[in-house]
Amino acid sequence: MEFHVVTLFPDLFDSPLSCGLIGRAIKAGLISVVLHSLRNYGLGRYRQVDDTPYGGGHGMVMRPEPIAAAFDAALERRPGLWRIILTPQGEVLNQAKVERLAQHKPGLLLLAGRYEGIDERVRTMADQELSIGDYVLAGGELAALVIIEAVTRLVPGAVGNPESLKEESLSGPTLEYPQYTKPREFRGQRVPDVLLGGDHQKIRAWRDEQARKRTAQRRPDLVGKDKA
Ligand code: SAM
Repeated sequence: MEFHVVTLFPDLFDSPLSCGLIGRAIKAGLISVVLHSLRNYGLGRYRQVDDTPYGGGHGMVMRPEPIAAAFDAALERRPGLWRIILTPQGEVLNQAKVERLAQHKPGLLLLAGRYEGIDERVRTMADQELSIGDYVLAGGELAALVIIEAVTRLVPGAVGNPESLKEESLSGPTLEYPQYTKPREFRGQRVPDVLLGGDHQKIRAWRDEQARKRTAQRRPDLVGKDKA
């Protein structure tokens, strides 16, 4: 799986791409991340990428030409990438959408915006507009990393035990059941006896019940849905 990101701040990706799950997946050759510095496609001597909005108003707007040139370069290098604009105005990401993104071969092209926003005409260059939640970030880089990590977890081999993906919150119709590890007692709170008994049928039943209760309490909007 290939991820291409068009960004004004490629340095912002250094640490997240070198650590943890993403770092391991890159080292193992399961994914690759190609950063396209938008500044390289900027206009004129000052490599300009933004300008004042027509009609007036606050802030600067990203011009379409540098973005189009960066998209062209990425698509020339890897034809067929699924083109995504990151914007708080997009469809809100959830696990079902992450699963669909993971199906896109050869991979994803993500545009991280900055400033007040992106020239409206850029929208015609995208297959999808995605938001990572109903709040506004200063730029799309963290949103791109959220998508890269969530999708990478679904790439075969990226997560040590693929069984763990099946039970996870939002992978099915419920949140995950409560988890416990050692010690058996912590600050007066004991691990439920059923988990210590070794009866796997009982444990399964207890976990299913807890998952249902927890979903009803915390995310009643998910109850009755096939998939979160
Ligand atoms: N003025 C824009 C609006 O109201 O839609 C918001 C611009 S925001 C300050 C700058 C950039 O951050 C956006 O172009 C987008 O790429 C990114 N961004 C901000 N919030 C985001 C979110 N919730 N999901 C994805 N990207 C986001």
